[in-house]
Amino acid sequence: MFVGHYGVGFLLKKRFNEIPLWLLFISVQFVDILAFSFVLLGIEIIKYNPSANPFLRTIIEYVPYSHSLFANLILSFTVFLIFWRIKNKLWGIALSIGVLSHWFLDILVHVSDMPLFHNSLKVGMGLWKFPLIAFIIEFSMFILAGFFLLKSSHKIKRHIFLIILLSISFGSMYFSPEAEATAAMASIFSLTLYTVFTALAYWCDRGKN
Ligand SMILES: [Zn+2]
Repeated sequence: MFVGHYGVGFLLKKRFNEIPLWLLFISVQFVDILAFSFVLLGIEIIKYNPSANPFLRTIIEYVPYSHSLFANLILSFTVFLIFWRIKNKLWGIALSIGVLSHWFLDILVHVSDMPLFHNSLKVGMGLWKFPLIAFIIEFSMFILAGFFLLKSSHKIKRHIFLIILLSISFGSMYFSPEAEATAAMASIFSLTLYTVFTALAYWCDRGKN
């Protein structure tokens, strides 16, 4: 999942307003940031799969450290402890929910490639097999969460810009033609996008309107 994770970031921002959006954005995408970094380091393996379905072009083959439920429970608990210690309990709760939410959104769409423990017991409800439905559901989730965040906010303009930009990149991912990409290229591209979105969220945090 892609922008759907940022929808969770918006909802957390609405509930825990004192936590900056950029940090929430990192938390909800932290698992993929880890995965793509691990792929570049040769620790985890994803492969390109030529497919007309835009959601099935990345096969995740070996992702025990970033995408197993067991690793995610440990990871989110560690995040909780760290932010409880350096900030307060609310920060710990919000950011650990952000981290853990990623796995639970991913299993809705992934096709049986999300391990429960290390590299075994793989699950996934496979919504991605129906790309149009998956696209509409994820996009609606994202837009609704953005609307919910901005509904009673006075900081609108920059957030609207962020929402539009994320929508465009999600749309262009969905509608882009099939093109051979190495796992390293896909990883660098994704990490760059996440960095840009985090920077934009920081820009939203700083804005007065
Ligand atoms: Zn993921």
